[in-house]
Amino acid sequence: MRDSLHDRHRAVMPDWLTTYYDEPLELVSGSGRHVTGGDGRTYLDFFGGLLATMIGHDIPEITEALRRQAGRLLHSSTLYLIRSQVELAEKIAARAPVDDPRVFFVNSGSEAVETAFLLTTAAQRSNQVIALRGSYHGRSFGTVAATGIRGWSATSLSPLQITYAHNGYRYRSPFGHLPDAEFIAACRDELRTMIETATSGSIACYIAEPIQGAGGFATPPDGFFLAMKEVLDDYDVPFVSDEVQSGWGRTGRSYFGIEHYGIRPQAITFAKGLANGLSIGGVVAESGLMNSLSANSISTAGGNPMAMVAGTAVLDFIDSHDLQTNAAEVGRILLTGLREIAERCPLIGEVRGAGLMLGVELVEPGKIPAVSRTNAVLAECRSRGLLVGKGGLHGNVLRVTPPMTVTAEEARRALAILDDALTIVAT
Ligand code: PMP
Repeated sequence: MRDSLHDRHRAVMPDWLTTYYDEPLELVSGSGRHVTGGDGRTYLDFFGGLLATMIGHDIPEITEALRRQAGRLLHSSTLYLIRSQVELAEKIAARAPVDDPRVFFVNSGSEAVETAFLLTTAAQRSNQVIALRGSYHGRSFGTVAATGIRGWSATSLSPLQITYAHNGYRYRSPFGHLPDAEFIAACRDELRTMIETATSGSIACYIAEPIQGAGGFATPPDGFFLAMKEVLDDYDVPFVSDEVQSGWGRTGRSYFGIEHYGIRPQAITFAKGLANGLSIGGVVAESGLMNSLSANSISTAGGNPMAMVAGTAVLDFIDSHDLQTNAAEVGRILLTGLREIAERCPLIGEVRGAGLMLGVELVEPGKIPAVSRTNAVLAECRSRGLLVGKGGLHGNVLRVTPPMTVTAEEARRALAILDDALTIVAT
């Protein structure tokens, strides 16, 4: 018998490149919010390939834009003017809550964050970075060091000096039980003490995901980042908002997750959903910060015309279909439904998130992370035709992140499946 695709994968790919499910799934085609697997079954896609399928599969406007561009020119490099790059940069600059913005394109989230580190270390003449506990910023040398989840960061010997601050995650915080204002004050005091005791006071940047992705969708309370920004301003520390997962309105408001907190960061990193799954990444930063590099810099394929026309098609689609409003409305149905399930299901410790970025933390009695049961829920969902993701420090948080075009009916179908899967695994 010929080896299965899984056998061939195992023989040729690294051991650490793990897949979901005991019997991994190959996805071969998609339409809207549905994907069809190599097993011939169709699934409701509520993970979007790690939140990159922003507006759904096989969107005619995107396919057409790519077809047109592919027939003209695949690549030229930034040594020549690229009309589609300037157009997308203009759109991003007009939408980002960043003063006097400049935009630079790369190919991935890791490169985007790496670029933010290049800019801020050069501008501040410091290699010290404050990241948050439970953060994920990528798999390059610098970003892996700034990642505050050991399972993703153990191998780094980085030139950056990283200090980890509170991520606003209350469920497991020693001061999580406090009312909002007191909790935020405690985190603010902790940040100030940390800067005073664990850094030289000269700091390249503070980098935060407004809602932590791989970290399990830790969602700080309103006012959290405003309070942190006040401390950072006192010490002249630039704020980098890593919006690789939370960008473009998925959280149900405007274009960036940090807008929920009413602050204007010095830089925003983006990737994933902007080109609906094609390789793309970039930074939008205040011009002083962006221009702090004195050496030339280039990204050969960064800003290539294919990714750029896809990015423009995605932003136009989000605008013309008012998808932030849809994300807020369908997100509310999902959040309410998940909280109703939580009232009946002892396996659920907390439901959190915003818009279409929702996390369900699964626990055994005593808040012990329900790691194997989370895998079981993922498998039960799959067998009922629903794909969801997982994350968290221990891998015990379900991630529910459908494309922004998801309908209320699809949300209700997913809730029914989640309800069944959680009930079966809990008993
Ligand atoms: N930052 C965040 C917040 C992410 O979630 C990710 C990817 N999961 C990255 C950076 C790295 O992006 P990429 O995998 O495209 O390099």
